Amino acid sequence: MIEASDAAARSEPLAVLIVGAGFSGLAMAIRCRQAGIGPFRVIEKGDGIGGTWHDNTYPGAACDVPSHLYSLSFAPKADWSRMYAPQAEILAYLRETAERHGLMPLIQLGTAFQGATWDEARALWHVETDRGPITARAIVSGMGGLHHPAYPDIPGRDAFAGPAFHTAAWDHAVSLAGKRVGVIGTGASAIQVVPELAEVAGQLTLFQRTPPWIMPKNDHAIAERIKARYRRLPLARRLERARLFWLHEVRALLGFTKVSKLTGQAEALARRHLAKAVPDPELRRRLTPNYRLGCKRVLISDTYYPALQRPNVTLETGSIARITPGGVTTQDGRTHDLDAIVYATGFDVTATFTRMNLVGRDGLRLADAWAGGMGAYQGITVAGFPNYFMLLGPNTGLGHNSVVAMIEVQVQHVLDCLGALRRGTRAVEVRPEAQARFLDRIRARLADSIWQAGGCRSWYLDAQGRNATLWPDSVMAYRRSARRARMADYRLG
Ligand code: NAP
Repeated sequence: MIEASDAAARSEPLAVLIVGAGFSGLAMAIRCRQAGIGPFRVIEKGDGIGGTWHDNTYPGAACDVPSHLYSLSFAPKADWSRMYAPQAEILAYLRETAERHGLMPLIQLGTAFQGATWDEARALWHVETDRGPITARAIVSGMGGLHHPAYPDIPGRDAFAGPAFHTAAWDHAVSLAGKRVGVIGTGASAIQVVPELAEVAGQLTLFQRTPPWIMPKNDHAIAERIKARYRRLPLARRLERARLFWLHEVRALLGFTKVSKLTGQAEALARRHLAKAVPDPELRRRLTPNYRLGCKRVLISDTYYPALQRPNVTLETGSIARITPGGVTTQDGRTHDLDAIVYATGFDVTATFTRMNLVGRDGLRLADAWAGGMGAYQGITVAGFPNYFMLLGPNTGLGHNSVVAMIEVQVQHVLDCLGALRRGTRAVEVRPEAQARFLDRIRARLADSIWQAGGCRSWYLDAQGRNATLWPDSVMAYRRSARRARMADYRLG
């Protein structure tokens, strides 16, 4: 295989440029290596690999999908320390995996993708980065959707005098011990950070706009004898992974994608969890969601509700009017004096995709192609953008199972397309009619999905109220749909 540095020396275009060194980009790079596809290079805007797991270092950061499932099937790890591994262990896993597969020399850190233009005559992409241009026959985006922190549009936000930062950009130089800390937001990140901060803060005020549905987590350390068994018997580890996969897959049927009778049963389970943890009926009322379970991401925690009942923690449900130099003022005129603010306010998903400055065939801009809403064939390819592939692109996020399973399906699909390029095809481009057929199919499924019909607003929906982020079915259904690239759906030039 030709390595990237050799190609650069001869100024040859890369066969593949992979953008992002998180789960997706690394999975793609490993599989390219194994398939002998090259030369390729991975560029990464961060100063280290790991993507989400590099960026999100807030106290309590962990994955809410079991580690034996939230890992690459072709890079197994027998000795996960816990059912739900903490961030540092997942990051270490990704680093070890990259090293074991010899990827590190092929990864260029501190290099941000700024845009790319398709060159029809030469059948290649001219890529702009903040470290200079790159040419490549194909681009695989492993940029994901959750890396542009979203800050709330609250008047006076910049006026706050103390430290203020986002969960995805944690300032470890700031000690919050003994401080009056405000946390804004009650999503997946907040419910992990709040119990940790409550332990150290003098006073913690949690500003809740919408209460989340929370299920029991049942996290636990994995015993040494189990780890030893997984090391000795890879089949036992594979069976555990399969058990976890099907356990999560069943949730697609259990009302995680559509409102059904089972939605009510899942809600009853979550209500029992709340009732057991919170004896005070008034606090319980304020923590009870008024929309259907599954409409927003269903959270799991055994420590969040107890944390909210500590004497140094206040749950504030009055809406925020403005931020002042000294804290937060709520609509009812009360002021909440704070030394620091933590924004657990999520990510700007749409911006991530629309900011990709991509110019395809005949000068078509991705932003224009998506003016009526984001959408891609199998969430991977877009008509007008030959040899451009997305991992975790539109409509391929999940609320019920591990996204790593989705990534692996997409990597196989992309490998099929890269295989066609290797066999001499200059350009692989999805046929507009195949893309339209696919989008019609999933939009019909989305019409009565829980995200549309569940009575809430979430980051899953765009400004027009359309869901262009989640896959509306099971992972198995996606596997059937996308795992192999049907070449009849592609124009091979
Ligand atoms: P999020 O789910 O989007 O939650 C953002 C929170 O901020 C919500 O509670 C939201 O309230 C609140 N908020 C936003 N703007 C506000 C405003 N102007 N005033 C008051 N509150 C405001 O973000 P996240 O918790 O970072 O999670 C994002 C995604 O990252 C998750 O859905 C998940 O996919 C992923 N994640 C995964 C894990 C994991 O363990 N696997 C952990 C963390 C994150 P509303 O609900 O009212 O909008």
